[in-house]
This record gives sequence, C-alpha cells and structure tokens, in this order.
Amino acid sequence: MKLIISVVLLLFSLTAVASAGYSSHFDFRLYKKEAAETGPTILIIGGIQGDEPGGFNAAALLATEYTISKGNLWVVPNLNFESIIKRSRGIYGDLNRKFSSLDRNDPEYELIQKIKAIIQDKQIDVVLNLHDGSGFYRKKYIDRLHGPQRWGQSIIIDQETIKTQRYGKLMALAKDVRETVNAVIKDKGARYHVRNTRTREGDAEMEKTLTYFSIRNQKPAFGLEVSKEYLTHERVYYHLLLVESFMHKLGIKFKRSFALQKAAVKDKIDNHVKLSINDGKIYLDVANARRRLTYVPLKKSAPVDLDSNSPLMAIIDDRNGYKVRYGNRHVTYLQPQYFDYDSSLEKVSIEVDGQMQMVALGSIVEINNSLLVDPLPGYRANIIGFKKPGLKNEVGVLIRRNDIASRFSVDRKARLFRLEFYKDNKYCGMLLLSFNRKEATKISSLSTGIRVSSP
Ligand SMILES: [Zn+2]
Repeated sequence: MKLIISVVLLLFSLTAVASAGYSSHFDFRLYKKEAAETGPTILIIGGIQGDEPGGFNAAALLATEYTISKGNLWVVPNLNFESIIKRSRGIYGDLNRKFSSLDRNDPEYELIQKIKAIIQDKQIDVVLNLHDGSGFYRKKYIDRLHGPQRWGQSIIIDQETIKTQRYGKLMALAKDVRETVNAVIKDKGARYHVRNTRTREGDAEMEKTLTYFSIRNQKPAFGLEVSKEYLTHERVYYHLLLVESFMHKLGIKFKRSFALQKAAVKDKIDNHVKLSINDGKIYLDVANARRRLTYVPLKKSAPVDLDSNSPLMAIIDDRNGYKVRYGNRHVTYLQPQYFDYDSSLEKVSIEVDGQMQMVALGSIVEINNSLLVDPLPGYRANIIGFKKPGLKNEVGVLIRRNDIASRFSVDRKARLFRLEFYKDNKYCGMLLLSFNRKEATKISSLSTGIRVSSP
C-alpha cells in the first residue's frame, strides 16, 4: 500500500516574518496528517490556555512524532501561542470563553474566526480539546482535591448525544474510551471519569467554550482533562493514552516514534528539540542550553528567522536581545553581535582526531581528542572561547578541549562549542564542536519540512 503522509502547514499570517514585530511567531499552526487509506478525521486542539503544558506538549508530539496510515489527524498544537510563550493562562483573557459572542475589536477576534472555520470544515468528524485541569473530578465531594468542583482526569461532554451521522453518542463513546484507558492505568487515583456538563440546560460559562461551539455545529466534541497535580510529562502521557484510544475507536491507524511510557515521553519532550536560526547559520540544541549566549552573530537589519522541529518554539524581542522560548520554558537568551552575512562558504575541510573530512556548515562535529581546520585562504576561523592570546585566525592550529574555556560553551555541560567562519568582516556560518561523543548529526536534517517563517 502506498502511503502518503502530508504535513501541511497553514500560514495564517499575511505578514509572516517580514515585519519587525515578530507577531507572526504567535500564529497557531495546523498540521494535516493524512493517510492514503481513507478514514475519519479527528481534530486535536492543544494550548487553548497558555498555562496548560500537558495539553500543548501532547498535541505537539501528535503533530511531529506520529505518522498516520489510515484516516486523518489534524492537529493545532499551539492555539493560544502568545499566551503559551508568555506563560499566561490568557494574556487577552480566557480564549475558551470567546466562542459564543465576541466583540469585533477583541485582539483575538481573527484567531477565533480561523479556528471556528477549521472546526466547521466538513472533513472533521470529532474534535478533542486538550486541557490541564485542577485536582481530580469526582461526582461527589470527597475532599479539597477530589470532587465535582475539580476537573482533572475526566472526559468532558456537553450533552449525552447530538444528531450527527456518526459518533453522535457522546456519552457512550466517552465511557468506552474511559474503560479502555482505565484498564491500563495502574494508579487507581489517576483513573478517568466522564463528566457531563449539561451545557444546554443552562451552563452560561460552558456555552462560551470551543467544545460547545462544535456541538452547536453538529461536530462531536470532547474536552480531555488531565490533572495539574502531575508533572508535565505525566500529563502528556495521560493525554496521549486518551487520544490514542479515540483513534482506535474511530479506526484511525498510526505509529509513533517513541514508546508510550512516562520516561520515554519525558525524553522526547526534554532532549530532542533543536532549533536553527537564519537558515542554519546558527544552531542550538535545546537540551541543556546555557541560560544566556553572548556574541551571537545575527544578521544586520533583518528579522530573525527561526526553524525548529517543535511547533512550541519561539524567539521574542527582549530589550537588546532575544529570548528563546520552548512552550512555557525559557531556553536561552541571545545577546547579539550584528554582522553582514556571506554565503560563499558551504563546506570546510577539517581533521577530526587525525582524520580528514569535509563538513557542511551548520553541522555538529563529534570529536574525541583533537580538531584542526585545514588551510582556508580568504576566510578566518574563530572558536569561541579558544584561549591562545594574540591569535586572530585559528586555521591550521591543533585544538583540544582543554584549549577552550568552559564558560564559552553553548551547553551547561561544557561539551558543545561554536566554531565560526568569517570572510573579511562578514559572517559565513558555524559548526558546533561536540567533545567526547559518538554519532554525528547534520543540522539540515532536523527540520521535518516545517518552517515558522513564510515559505
Ligand atoms: Zn483548560
């Protein structure tokens, strides 16, 4: 069977990165993951509130780490992206209360129109809205953390059924999913409950929500709540259990790039996110990045263009530099030094542990002992933190880890260092030198073809 997985990125911004305001970095993204074998379509929404990392990290993994072989998965991993990046529930108020009536002047008016149109797309069969809720929902009051006043570990429906051709028995489907996930959740306290908010019978708050908007448009919709009592990766684990169960019930077939266990989920979130800036001219490994990087060679009078394998990554202007954010997390602060860029150098010849190799700029070079950059007429090599005083060009010099001051490393473990190339006063690009590790990776392979900037 021929398999076509298309990852489509809809860019809603007209301005993209062309303006200096970087506002486009906050547009949400839609991933359409579609298989050649037809089947139903689930729409996943993450990050409707910016302070619920379980939901938006789960949606981000669904967007980037799953392949679909039957049916379709549409994923919006970062609906309220600006609030996610700024770690706020909603910097313009609660986005999940803007779906019934909304002032045209509301700053999120356009965003709401765009997501409403996606929900109403005739291809969508079921909508799942991923939340992190307080405590643990129980039908009867037990204690402060457990009771009807709490939301965690519940599947929310607005009413028992809706009139649609398929999947309209909301309560029955929610209960079916609950039975399936509870069978694999060993911790009894974490098991799921179904909650019917009976929105139509007069719940004024719930009438303003995304799921009730879906219901009013004949789209079966469920709110999935994971408890804020759990750590982020645990929340993601529970969310993925639920979403996968919905996919199974609907007959959507998929594969993922990791094992569905808490430790593997944590590793995926923490250690596999990379970013490159300005077409690979600058490269960072998000795991263990230093809180602040100085003398970062950015391009004179041009916007910063970011590319990452995660949809939760953003760069924001901050005084004289840039904050790099990954969801709710601070990655690093870039203190720039501005240069004109030169694109004449693509590869360099280097000797790693005595072995000659040609390496493309924008790569990581793994080194056990020593490095030597071969003669490169017209260009200058500069290892940030290299300690030989008076030396302006480090071409032709044998370099070992101990020749570089640890405080200049890119990472907190003092293993990764920048080797930068210049022509006259123009910046050509960099290599990341990684001491004492084995496999080599190439930066250009980090992207899944998804770009933050406009194509
Ligand atoms: Zn929420």
